Amino acid sequence: MTSLNTLPLPRIRLDDASHEHAWLVESRHPTSEGVVLYVRCAECHVRRVDIQAHTSLPPTAVSRGTDRPHDGAA
Ligand SMILES: [Zn+2]
Repeated sequence: MTSLNTLPLPRIRLDDASHEHAWLVESRHPTSEGVVLYVRCAECHVRRVDIQAHTSLPPTAVSRGTDRPHDGAA
């Protein structure tokens, strides 16, 4: 321990989509529409909801990153 200063953890504050999100699947829920995937970016912790209609197809985002609260009803 030679460091006298306690440096904060390097926290990269990036705006939405200014980096390539590293989506991790937190949970998956089979529905009649396909498998709903709840994903979270490992870097910025933005959450997103994807739906995968077939296991052979890539998931499609059904929501944008939820870095802000509700968008307002209608
Ligand atoms: Zn991210």
